[in-house]
Amino acid sequence: MTEQNETYKGGCACGHVRYEMTSKPMITHGCHCRWCQRESGTSFAVNALIEADRVNITKGDVVEIIVPSVSGAGQRFTRCPKCQVTLWTNYLVMTGGLGEVIRFIRVGTLDNPDPFPPDVHIFTSTKQPWVILPSGVPAFEEYFVIEEIWPPESLVRRAALSSTIEKATS
Ligand SMILES: [Zn+2]
Ligand SMILES: [Zn+2]
Repeated sequence: MTEQNETYKGGCACGHVRYEMTSKPMITHGCHCRWCQRESGTSFAVNALIEADRVNITKGDVVEIIVPSVSGAGQRFTRCPKCQVTLWTNYLVMTGGLGEVIRFIRVGTLDNPDPFPPDVHIFTSTKQPWVILPSGVPAFEEYFVIEEIWPPESLVRRAALSSTIEKATS
């Protein structure tokens, strides 16, 4: 099976919204920052980073709200208008202007989240102490150098997004 024809379906709790990712994500983050802990009400967020144009809403519609973020720029939450479950977020300010084109899919909203454990754990300086991270998965007290952690094929995908943005803004 090639990357292009794999789809991963997900949705909200009430069934109003269904969506699909049309490929694997570029990378999955386990984020242990206090902001993610608060927003999720749990111990860490599991976010699959994927190009916005590889996410299709297949049923229903969504609403967006802006939630304060650590940068001050805000984080946009895309939610079901009925049950209010958040399906993905966008960081409005990201390095290289990628905020609009990379969605952070909440892995727990996939019908089968199991294939996407965190590839990297971040902001472990505020990790809740009972959370024991698996050995062999990179973990950083804050963030990391993308080129050192992302798989090569994902770096190619990210570079393609960057060149699209450069063309649009030049
Ligand atoms: Zn819903
Ligand atoms: Zn976080």
